[in-house]
Amino acid sequence: MAEIHADGGPLPPIPDDLTIPQFLFDSHHPSRPVLRQPQPWLIEELTGREIGSDELRARTFSLANALRIRYEIGEDDVVCIFGPNHIDYPVVIWAVHRLGGIITGANPAYTADELVYQLTTTKARILVSHPGSLPVALEAAHKAGLPADRVVVFEPVPSANNTTVEELVVQGLQHTQRFVERRLQPGEGKRKLAFLSFSSGTTGRPKAVMIPHHSMIANIIQIAHRTQAKDESRPLDLQRFKPGSRVLAVLPFYHIYGLLIVLHSSLFIGTTVVVVQKFHFEQFLDSIQRYRITHLYVVPPMVVLLCKHPAVQKYDLSSVRMLICGAAPLSSELMTQLIALLPDAWIGQLYGMTELCTIVTFPQMDKRIGTIGSGGVLLPGCIARVVKPDGPSVSLGYLNNAEATAETFKDGWVVTGDEVYFNERKEIFVVDRIKELIKVRGFQVPPAELEGHLLDHPDVGDVCVVGIPDEYSGELPFAFVVPSAAAQARIDADKAAADDVRKAIMKHVADHKANYKHLAGVEFIDVIPKNPSGKLLRRTLRDRAKGLRESG
Ligand code: AMP
Repeated sequence: MAEIHADGGPLPPIPDDLTIPQFLFDSHHPSRPVLRQPQPWLIEELTGREIGSDELRARTFSLANALRIRYEIGEDDVVCIFGPNHIDYPVVIWAVHRLGGIITGANPAYTADELVYQLTTTKARILVSHPGSLPVALEAAHKAGLPADRVVVFEPVPSANNTTVEELVVQGLQHTQRFVERRLQPGEGKRKLAFLSFSSGTTGRPKAVMIPHHSMIANIIQIAHRTQAKDESRPLDLQRFKPGSRVLAVLPFYHIYGLLIVLHSSLFIGTTVVVVQKFHFEQFLDSIQRYRITHLYVVPPMVVLLCKHPAVQKYDLSSVRMLICGAAPLSSELMTQLIALLPDAWIGQLYGMTELCTIVTFPQMDKRIGTIGSGGVLLPGCIARVVKPDGPSVSLGYLNNAEATAETFKDGWVVTGDEVYFNERKEIFVVDRIKELIKVRGFQVPPAELEGHLLDHPDVGDVCVVGIPDEYSGELPFAFVVPSAAAQARIDADKAAADDVRKAIMKHVADHKANYKHLAGVEFIDVIPKNPSGKLLRRTLRDRAKGLRESG
């Protein structure tokens, strides 16, 4: 099998003795551009509040001090952040890293049961939440056996007395430093965990992907190496990452795409990150105009809106110099419309996977657009067969799940489960997803999770969940259900009962799962097709669902 080797020359050394905050704040690396003027690192979109590197560093140390004093957070303790993006989100991350702890970010759309799964899988010792997520956070903490005083909030909630991050920062500042910062031995960064990010990989339920500091740092350097290539030698007005660049951080930090690419890699190359709490399309357009946003990282549904929503005409988007889309397929039609909408911007796609921490391709930087439909070219240091993982950014496997780890991490390679090809210009094209995973608006919906949940319902005898195409969301989950004997008897007695059964099944998902996992439909079937070894024949059903959809 042919291997595709990345262009771009050898990578500069990747430090394996630094934690992420040490790499970002306390060290210099040759691939980091020298900033010619100080600028804020973060801006809070809602208020315009700016915060620079000195203040961020100081807040991080104060918070770390308080987390040690108040909660004894230290080596390998897990802290879960459950909430939308917040200007203190990264401060919590870096404080925990300075203590030697690990961060797990949870989707704020989660229901209490979904959060309980994450809290118990990772054995989280503190839960940091947002006021809007607090009721769910408290319910989940209670169910997971985490005392309510270990639920901290980003901002005060009048009706609750939970400690705020700000109170902890102040408390940490008032005491002399009570912790010794965690430092790594040479090579230790390759094993020392920084994040536990959830992904279902190629099959099964969500699992905690073990991401060490070194893998994050490696991917940041790979991206910097690509984006900085030749940039500084261009005239200033043609430089894509020149001082004063601003990225709109609308993608969530709990997902590795928002966390690594939008937040960390932008900060590393000196781009100010405008932190957006919640995606609202008109506000998104307004913020691009108001903050003169130069860089955008988006997912396909945002491109759909950019290309089709009439409000776009009301805003000045001329500041945008680069737009990059990832996390799910983007059609060639949309890409073409986008190029017309932003005639001066560099436009492209990136391709990655949580297990690959994070991306393995990025658009070529020497032309404004690559081949339409392509997902970019390999980052320096990568070889694809599909992908060469031990060089250098890859996670360590799934926490406490040797079986799933062995299935996806094989002989030093990561099995992506995607069907791809490379053209003669070494651009990747993602043709299809072979693995079980469904992606709704870029969010992971593992069919096995929904199937397990549906089998708990008394009306369900057997079930298979597949993705059906949707113009906005990319895909939506759709269930083929073999009714249980009791449900079948009701349907046989009264045909109209079928509708009630269908509704009850959909409600069972809607009541317990985050909204993007809700079923678009249920179709009854006599038997779920399986191969002789019992494996569900998902493709057959996926094609059948597509047919149903098309015939209305
Ligand atoms: P996640 O771990 O949530 O980032 O999901 C990774 C999966 O998202 C990949 O294995 C692909 O199936 C899909 N994906 C990511 N980027 C792209 C892209 N540019 N085009 C098509 N699919 C993508």
